[in-house]
Amino acid sequence: MNLEAVKEKIRQVPDFPKKGIQFLDITTGIKDAETLQQMVDFLYDIYKDKKIDYVAGIESRGFIFGMPLAYKLNAGFIPIRKPNKLPAETIKESYDLEYGSDSIEIHADAIEKGANVVIIDDLLATGGTACAACNLVKKAGGNVDSAAFIIELTPLKGAEKIEKTGVEVISMLKYDLD
Ligand code: AMP
Repeated sequence: MNLEAVKEKIRQVPDFPKKGIQFLDITTGIKDAETLQQMVDFLYDIYKDKKIDYVAGIESRGFIFGMPLAYKLNAGFIPIRKPNKLPAETIKESYDLEYGSDSIEIHADAIEKGANVVIIDDLLATGGTACAACNLVKKAGGNVDSAAFIIELTPLKGAEKIEKTGVEVISMLKYDLD
């Protein structure tokens, strides 16, 4: 697979959502049928021989890749959502942002004890969101197999942050951007 060609399909938008952020826009990747297939197939190839019970996607772009992966793996899909979106009892995890904090939630009964779960998001930056997602899955009783991303911004060292918690990190496209 030509990863440089996949990268060329991902638009970079400077100063979005605020000045100084180089936003990696996957919409231009997923609108291209071949690129979309390459992205989902990259993830599928990593997991196809493993016993994965659930794919947990992080709202909202983690849903885009998590759902087709779950379908292909014959696994269930679990949404990890922004606060006050999930209707039943939830477990919440807060994490620090550059300015302030944010939180994400999972349904308290989403995971059977010991189930093997892969966490998916589109992009790994500092790793704060993904670490919070790992904590949620563990609190809900699951085993975190690994966390996988289409894009990793390597200078931000998110992979190190996640790996320190004992969770393996997979990423398709590495960018030397911070
Ligand atoms: P972090 O918690 O710092 O790893 O940030 C990851 C989350 O923020 C993911 O859900 C990404 O979709 C989003 N994100 C962070 N930085 C960017 C970026 N430069 N371009 C697009 N999305 C980003």
